[in-house]
Amino acid sequence: MTNCLFCKIAAKEIPGKIVYEDDDVLAFQDIHPQAPVHLLLIPKKHFDSILAIGDKDLPLLTHLMKLIPKLAKEHGLAEAGFRTVINTGPKGGQTVYHLHLHLIGGRQMTWPPG
Ligand code: AMP
Ligand code: ZN
Repeated sequence: MTNCLFCKIAAKEIPGKIVYEDDDVLAFQDIHPQAPVHLLLIPKKHFDSILAIGDKDLPLLTHLMKLIPKLAKEHGLAEAGFRTVINTGPKGGQTVYHLHLHLIGGRQMTWPPG
């Protein structure tokens, strides 16, 4: 997709602090971290949001979900816990319209979210 920030990071057209990559997914550090650890996990394929995911895409989503415990352990979050978030649409607070999952930790989270 042209002009998509995260497609450009996936294509290495703009820099990202990448912490994991394979053929299908990418994880990188959020540029404005909301906690000591704040990673973004994305499929390399463009989806505007979780609303664009269909049945045929579920293996890709599973792949992305499997990265959560792996990265949480690698970044020292597994024992204390962490938060995963997918913001969707204007009222969900989504600002980048390429599906991404936030993995946030290293401090106490609160509920309800803002
Ligand atoms: P959301 O508000 O859920 O759409 O999340 C978008 C996230 O992308 C925000 O947490 C931003 O800080 C982050 N972000 C925006 N631009 C970049 C960038 N160039 N590299 C890494 N993260 C970014
Ligand atoms: Zn994209």
